[in-house]
Amino acid sequence: MKGTVLYGARDIRFEDRPEPKIIKPADAILRLSASCICGSDLWPYRGIANFAELPAPMGHEYCGIVEEVGKEVRNVKPGQFVVGSFATSDNTCVICQDGYQSSCVQREFMSAAQAPLLRVPLADGTLVPITDVPPKELIPSLLATSDVLGTGWFAADAANVKSGKTAVVVGDGAVGLLAVLSAKQMGAERIIAMSRHESRQKLAREFGATDIVTERGEEGIARIKELTKGLGADSVLECVGTQESMLQAIRSTRPGGYVSYVGVPHAVKLDGTELFFGEVHLHGGPAPVRRYLPDLIELVLDEKINPGKVFDLKLPLDQVAEGYRAMDERRAIKTLLQP
Ligand SMILES: [Zn+2]
Repeated sequence: MKGTVLYGARDIRFEDRPEPKIIKPADAILRLSASCICGSDLWPYRGIANFAELPAPMGHEYCGIVEEVGKEVRNVKPGQFVVGSFATSDNTCVICQDGYQSSCVQREFMSAAQAPLLRVPLADGTLVPITDVPPKELIPSLLATSDVLGTGWFAADAANVKSGKTAVVVGDGAVGLLAVLSAKQMGAERIIAMSRHESRQKLAREFGATDIVTERGEEGIARIKELTKGLGADSVLECVGTQESMLQAIRSTRPGGYVSYVGVPHAVKLDGTELFFGEVHLHGGPAPVRRYLPDLIELVLDEKINPGKVFDLKLPLDQVAEGYRAMDERRAIKTLLQP
């Protein structure tokens, strides 16, 4: 088969790869219905974050049909449609039981999902099966639950978004846009999206944003204060991962409020004194998508949400390199890949 491999900065190749096989008895092999490119894939693509070893097989968002299972697998069987998280989990250890499957004691981060076939370790604890094979038009939204929606949902949950509250979303990438959708689902009364791009503002509004703030830095903080009686917001969802966005988030939050951060941080450094006097709750990390998957899948199957709208570019898998280019140049919000 052919799969996607990153060789270096802006060097993505679609090339011959060995077909994945069952290695451990808890593994499953999936034939993917769809895969996609993550905002976090752009960091190594741009040469900013270095993988320990290059070349590296790419892709960690996936859904598809179970092709084969190892002899210990009980919860999923060949022929079933499944969605899994970007982090594998046994779903039984203390950390998993507490809802933090993305830090499971047996966790592995998925890779190699930008390919037609994928090996998923810890299949019983990682994959969520769906009773019937879903209609084709729901595949993009089901794929979104695998990471981008699950991460946006965690951003809203970790920022304590509640009915009647004000939420600010920093970042208008796919995760930020779905953080808006998640805040809406959790009942936020006012949702302020910080975005400078017209097409993204439009989608943010469609997902539930009530206000758009285009300013950044000090001006952006001042605008949020203006909109929140001078106090700052109850909940601020940081969906980027830079120093600027993190400070934007912390400084836009009222004392006693909540900041979540779900963008992989790059060279973010925080000052202890500022944190002390800011008096905000901080909670973030790799999203425990597995915790939310059953509920998110149900919302999609019931057609209550349509997170698949973030895929504004759909390409055959063999054009994956163009998918990366389009996202890198911000011509596309998120690229769906069809094997
Ligand atoms: Zn675990």
